[in-house]
Amino acid sequence: MYYNWKEQTDTEELKIVCNLIRNGELVIFPTETVYGIGANALDPVAVGKIFIAKGRPSDNPLIVHLADRRKISEVADEITEMEQILIDNFMPGPFTIILKRKPIIPDIVTAGLDTVAVRIPQNIIAKGIITYAGVPVAAPSANISGKPSGTNIDDIRKELEGKVSAIVDGGETDIGIESTVVKVVNEVPIILRPGKITAEQIKEVAGDVKIDSKVFAKISSDEAVQSPGMKYKHYAPETKCQLVSYLNELDQIFYLKKLVKEYADNVVIIGFEEHEEKINLPYGKFLAISKKDDLEEYGKRIFSAIRYADSLKPNIILIEGVKRQGFGMAIMNRLLRTCEFNILE
Ligand code: AMP
Ligand code: MG
Repeated sequence: MYYNWKEQTDTEELKIVCNLIRNGELVIFPTETVYGIGANALDPVAVGKIFIAKGRPSDNPLIVHLADRRKISEVADEITEMEQILIDNFMPGPFTIILKRKPIIPDIVTAGLDTVAVRIPQNIIAKGIITYAGVPVAAPSANISGKPSGTNIDDIRKELEGKVSAIVDGGETDIGIESTVVKVVNEVPIILRPGKITAEQIKEVAGDVKIDSKVFAKISSDEAVQSPGMKYKHYAPETKCQLVSYLNELDQIFYLKKLVKEYADNVVIIGFEEHEEKINLPYGKFLAISKKDDLEEYGKRIFSAIRYADSLKPNIILIEGVKRQGFGMAIMNRLLRTCEFNILE
């Protein structure tokens, strides 16, 4: 079933959706980051359906979504002082923390790890569903495994229609990039996946922060990693993608133009409004998704733009990069994977 809650949540429909979750069915719903495909995290059979619908590898664990901070102690144990500081400062919000798990969380959710990833969304629809479902909700991004995350219902329907019991439409998601994932080791927060909550913000409250070395690195599939999701091909469409990220404006335009010629003008460029005229594509399409300095808008629209670019079936998709700082770190972490680490900079 499709439910349109773009204007407001329908309370009768909310009951139906929450019953579906309690009864072991899958529901797609919006969060402030991207859409999630959710199931009762305490029900291993229900969680198994997520892996099947997404084609997700079973060693890639899921984030458990809770209604509020008081629920954390129901799924996690031995919260340290630093973990509590992060929880108090960033939850609810686009922030996921890896904690020691309690046995109530089934193995299938954590891929057998002794930790559980916990998030408390602040999106009003997500919050409503998790609260009234009355159970923790395991919810990875709503997309086929390996593809860009779903940030609006049109994109999601093309991929997942018929694979879930309900789809809740809350419009385009606010942030468009998945949550920051942090693990605390020896009382120092380590960013395993950058997101809207930045390294700078974490450092401010924690005094220190580390970025996992895999955030910007290519990983071979048998390498041991802190966060299993890091090792998979990710956020990538069918069409080959190339990241172009020169800090110098003249270089940036020069190399984009050069690539346009190399690929016989049949390219789609995803980039900044200021560059559209300067590139002046003869045939291909320039998707100007934001102004050059508007990282928020760029991050919000990037996944949907990649999907649209892919649907045009060009010879290549050229994507303009951003500086790897602040929210830009999250954007570049995703784009490097989209482009399978093909970067000019
Ligand atoms: P997704 O649900 O697709 O947004 O991805 C969730 C991310 O969190 C993946 O990169 C997972 O590997 C990571 N994750 C989930 N649980 C854990 C855990 N217990 N330890 C480390 N990383 C985790
Ligand atoms: Mg995902």
